[in-house]
Amino acid sequence: PSAETGLYSQSDQIVLLNPDNVESVLFNSSAALVVEFYASWCGHCVAFSPVWKNLAMDTKEWKPAVDLVAIDCAAEENRKTCVHFGIRGYPTVKFFHAYSEKDSTGASFPVHTQDVSHLRRQMISMIEKHKEHWPPACPPLEAASKAEIDSLLESSGVELLALVFETASSYVGREVILDLLQFDNITVRRVLNTEDELVSKMAVTDFPSCYLYQGGNFSRLNVPFEARTFYSYALQRLPRVVRTSRPKPVALDLIRNVTEHPWREFNRTNVYMSDLESALHFSLRVELASHATINKGALTALKRYVSVLAKYFPGRPVVRNLLQTANAWLNGLQDSELQYNSFLEVLNNATEDAVLPHGERWVGCQGSQPHFRKYPCSMWTLFHALTVAANSASDSRPQEVLQAMRIYVKKFFGCHECASHFEGMAQESMNQVKTQSEAVLWLWSRHNRVNNRLAGDLSEDPNFPKIQWPPPELCPKCHGIDNGEHSWQEPEVLSFLMDYYSYSKILDNYLQ
Ligand code: FAD
Repeated sequence: PSAETGLYSQSDQIVLLNPDNVESVLFNSSAALVVEFYASWCGHCVAFSPVWKNLAMDTKEWKPAVDLVAIDCAAEENRKTCVHFGIRGYPTVKFFHAYSEKDSTGASFPVHTQDVSHLRRQMISMIEKHKEHWPPACPPLEAASKAEIDSLLESSGVELLALVFETASSYVGREVILDLLQFDNITVRRVLNTEDELVSKMAVTDFPSCYLYQGGNFSRLNVPFEARTFYSYALQRLPRVVRTSRPKPVALDLIRNVTEHPWREFNRTNVYMSDLESALHFSLRVELASHATINKGALTALKRYVSVLAKYFPGRPVVRNLLQTANAWLNGLQDSELQYNSFLEVLNNATEDAVLPHGERWVGCQGSQPHFRKYPCSMWTLFHALTVAANSASDSRPQEVLQAMRIYVKKFFGCHECASHFEGMAQESMNQVKTQSEAVLWLWSRHNRVNNRLAGDLSEDPNFPKIQWPPPELCPKCHGIDNGEHSWQEPEVLSFLMDYYSYSKILDNYLQ
C-alpha cells in the first residue's frame, strides 16, 4: 500500500521497501544499496523526491552494482522498520554495502545537496570506501596501469576496450564504467594523466578524452563533448555492444528467418509511411474491434482520435480522404452508442479516391523477434507525426492531439499498464501545454521518460536498445553541456522533430 501512497511509484527505478521485503532487499544483497527513509508528509522530503527520482534515472544502468531504495516512514506498517534503523529526521539516507548482514543499520550518506551529479559521485565514493564488500557485478573502478592495459590487450577475451583518460579527481571514467556495466563485449577502464608512458605513446593531450581499441588499433572516440553522457551514448551504441544476459543480437540474415514476414531493409534514421498506415489499420480494425459496442465515453474518445487523424495524418491523399469520410460519418451519428461493425463498414468501403490499406507491414518498427516493437512503436511514431503536423497547421488547438492520444490510450490501448503510466504523466503536466510547439516537446520528453524506464526491460529489443532520443549522431545540435553535465537544447530538438516527422521526410517504401 505504501507503494501507492508514498512519494515514489514502481516506475521510478527505485526499490520500494515494505515490511514484507525489507529483509530480502537490504540484507545479503549482491548490490550496494542507497536507502532513503522519508515521510510523505514532510515538505522537505516532497521537495527532495524529484532529486531522488532523477538520481535513480541517471544511475539506472548501475543497478547491479548499486541500487536506490526508498521507504515511507509515515506509513503505519513501516514504523517498526524506521525505528529499527534509528531514523529520527527525514529524509535520512543510508548506505548499505553489498552483502550487509542482518544486524547492519547502514552507513551515513549525507544529502545536503539537490545536485544529482554530486550525489552520483558520492555513490561511487561509498562503493570505493567499502572495498572489502565489493559488489561482484561492479568492474574495477581504480585507474589502470600500463601493465594492466597490456595484459588486457594480450588476453583474447577483450573485443573492445575503451580507455577514459582523465585526472585523478575526475569521476567521468568511473561513471562511464558503471554506465557500461550491463553491456557485453566491451571493457572500460580509466587511465590517469600521470600514466606517462601510455599518455605519450597514444599522444593523449585532452583530459578527459576517450580512446577505443578495436581490431588491433586505438582511435579517439569522436564525441560532440568530452563528457560522461557522450562517451556512454557512443560506447553503448557500438555495433557489437549488447546488453548482458539478453539474447545476443541476431545477425540480420538470421532475423530474416526468425520473423514471420520477410525482413524489410530499412534505414533506422527515417520514418516510414508503411508503419503509420499499419498503425491506422491495427488501431482502427484490430484494437477497436474488441469493443463490439462503443458507448458514450469511448465514443467520444473514438471521435476525437479520428478527428485528429482526419485533420493531421501526414499521409497519402487517398488515406486522408478515407479518414475524412470516417470522421464526417462519426460526426453525423445521432446515437450515443455505436456498433463497431457499422464503423468497420465505413473503413472498408474503399473507393478509387479513399482507402485504408489492410494489413500490417512493419518497416522501421520491425523487431528482431515476433514479440518486439511493431504496434506500440508505430503508435509513438504516429502521435509524434501528428503533433508535428498540428504544429504546422494554422487552425489547431495546443492540446488537441495530446488529449486525443490520451483518451484513445486510456479507452482503447490494449496494454493497460502502458495506459495507466501514460495517464499518470498526462495528469501531471499535460494541461500545462500552452502552444503547439510545447505539445511536440511534451510528447518527446514523456517518450524519453518511458524509454528511460524501459531501458533494460525484457520488452526491450536488444537490437533496438532504449536510449534517450535523438542520439547525438542523429542530431548533434540537440545536445549540449552545462556545468559538465549533458543538457538538451530544446529549440534544436524542436526543429529536429519538426523536420524528422514531417510529411516530406516520411519514406514510402513497401507501401501496397
Ligand atoms: P519506441 O519507444 O516504440 O519508439 C519508436 C520510435 O520512435 C523509435 O524507434 C525512435 O525512432 C522514435 N523515438 C524514440 N524516442 C523518441 C522520443 N523521445 N521522441 C520522439 N521519437 C522517439 N511498454 C512497456 O513495457 N511499459 C509501458 O508502460 C509502456 N507505455 C507505453 C505508452 C504508450 C503511450 C505507448 C505508445 C507505448 C508504451 N509502451 C510501454 C511500449 C514501449 O514504449 C515501446 O513502444 C515498445 O517497447 C517498442 O519500443 P521500440 O524500441 O520500438 O521504440
